[in-house]
Amino acid sequence: MLEESHYYFNKAADVLELSAKVREILLTPYRVVKVELVTEREDGSLLHHRGYRVQHDGARGPFKGGLRYHPSVDEDDCTALANLMTWKTAVVEVPFGGAKGGIDCDPGKLSEHELYEVTRTFVERVKDVIGPTSDIPAPDVNTNAKVMGWIMDEYSKYHGFSPGVVTGKPLELFGSQGREEATGRGVMLVLDEVLKERGERFQDARVAIQGFGNVGSHAARLVAGQGARIVAVGDHLGGVSNPRGLDVPALVDWARERRTVAGFPGGEAFDAPEVLTWDADVLIPAALGGVITRENAGEVRAKIVVEGANGPTTPEAEEILLRRGVHVVPDILANAGGVTVSYFEWVQNIQHFRWDLERVNGELEKVMRRAYAAVRDIAREKKLDRRTAAFVLAIQRVGRAALSRRHVREPIRL
Ligand code: NAD
Repeated sequence: MLEESHYYFNKAADVLELSAKVREILLTPYRVVKVELVTEREDGSLLHHRGYRVQHDGARGPFKGGLRYHPSVDEDDCTALANLMTWKTAVVEVPFGGAKGGIDCDPGKLSEHELYEVTRTFVERVKDVIGPTSDIPAPDVNTNAKVMGWIMDEYSKYHGFSPGVVTGKPLELFGSQGREEATGRGVMLVLDEVLKERGERFQDARVAIQGFGNVGSHAARLVAGQGARIVAVGDHLGGVSNPRGLDVPALVDWARERRTVAGFPGGEAFDAPEVLTWDADVLIPAALGGVITRENAGEVRAKIVVEGANGPTTPEAEEILLRRGVHVVPDILANAGGVTVSYFEWVQNIQHFRWDLERVNGELEKVMRRAYAAVRDIAREKKLDRRTAAFVLAIQRVGRAALSRRHVREPIRL
């Protein structure tokens, strides 16, 4: 994944004619932390996990990025995802840098208490490199508001009451209205922009979604709320389809109880990976990275791909999609709604003030539409695909900030 995020960076850096020196300054992570977490199971046996926090670039503000709990979490992935966060926060112009972290555990195999102990031990080890003005974690795959509440509590034991140390917290613990659905809402807003640009309507759009967790389920609900039909949803255990459109609220209830869409009675079952090549107008990958590949990109039937997940499309796959005229909205724009409302949450926390839902959603909409327009304008002006345009915009913003904070011996234009 690291190779892929560097590939996209370098493609945009070529457009900007950046020197090797500037590329190295911008690509090298600021800090990579690895911790060993040895905790006890309920039965007294030992659990041993590795935890990571990678802080990529902090030129534009405190490091910011999710915390992922998954057996595949490793230093490379966290570095790639931290990198993406740097460009994402710049695309939506929130005053943060980029970070990512995680623990290589499988929460499905741990009791809640075991998960709590693993989380608490992780925070105890990283407590001196995270904080409201240094690095602010948030939910990602398999982490949620409850985990964020535990992190806030553990961090506050050492540093005093600190709600601003994490975002995506429960509402009762100074979370923000609208944060849970924010990434899905951002996906819906950028899809609205794409459809408008193409002279199309939600009412005619058939949508396929991979992943039905935080991002996928809220995107489904909000996109269906605009009149689109969700014709197929797939997750780690299976898929369900209905050409007339799935009953999304019923599917949400089903998945909340069973942690999967598999077996939902309101549609036909299918094998999970087929969702990526489903007969639909719009594909929203909202699960893990690297799922649209050289092997399946030629079979993707959607003409619009909105990347809810981070890094779902490999560079070879993207070339194939672009050659076929597929409109790809890149992750660093499409799923930036989450970090945007995380920023609103952080602002509320440090001001000890609350915004109502209307204000959160209104501000989010302004940010997403403005970012979409900025990327679209660069793409048109420089004749670039949307991902390269988004990277160009982000690299300019981060690069100007990074270079203004240090003395560089040669003049550099960005
Ligand atoms: P989540 O844990 O809530 O949901 C993950 C979903 O992916 C689940 O439905 C799961 O079944 C599915 N999944 C896992 N493995 C799969 C597989 N092999 N095949 C098909 N489906 C699979 O996670 P989330 O927070 O919704 O995050 C999903 C993606 O969106 C990730 O790439 C994440 O980095 C990205 N993202 C999340 C946020 C956020 O605010 N939560 C913000 C930006 C980007």
